[in-house]
Amino acid sequence: MNIVLFGPPAAGKGTQAKRLVELFSMIQLSTGEMLRAVRATGSEMGKKVASIIDRGDLVSDEIVIGLVEERMDENGPNRGYIFDGFPRTVAQAEALDNMLQSRGTKIDAVIHLEVDEAKLTARVENRFKEEGRADDNLESFKVRLGRYSKETAPLLPYYEAQGKLKGIDGMKPIEKVGEGIEKVLRRLNG
Ligand code: AMP
Repeated sequence: MNIVLFGPPAAGKGTQAKRLVELFSMIQLSTGEMLRAVRATGSEMGKKVASIIDRGDLVSDEIVIGLVEERMDENGPNRGYIFDGFPRTVAQAEALDNMLQSRGTKIDAVIHLEVDEAKLTARVENRFKEEGRADDNLESFKVRLGRYSKETAPLLPYYEAQGKLKGIDGMKPIEKVGEGIEKVLRRLNG
């Protein structure tokens, strides 16, 4: 079973992905975490990626798709992936469908965490205090939300058309949201 955790920045994708790793022994593939690791190497590519992340923009499809493919090759067969923060554009979604198809598998569900803008902003302010992520400042966050509306939200009809979209109220406490996701996955597992 492979799923996409979908939603705007600070919707709780990473938190919920980690919970599912524990419960279902799936593998979390977070492109945000992969890119922060690339950044930490301090390489030329790392510097390029850092400036894009810090202003809240999207890293190129080519780089992100390359990182995901590399990671899938390293892992080999497994209990399934939780894609967290990927795909973020239609081109990435198409590439993901192709990568999975060529490995004899597919996306089973896309979990859409629905959270309003006021709550997202409050969460990002809080996360900045706790983790100090440079892209959690209000200015970058506005850019990230803009990117989400323009480039990422069009994936909702893409996955709706495939019958894979499952909406979850992401405004509830972490545990409640987690239980909602769990229910969807248990139903899928039959
Ligand atoms: P995240 O941790 O998922 O919020 O990602 C942090 C930042 O990494 C984003 O604001 C983007 O700059 C970059 N990023 C993460 N995933 C992607 C992706 N799938 N496509 C493009 N950029 C990404």
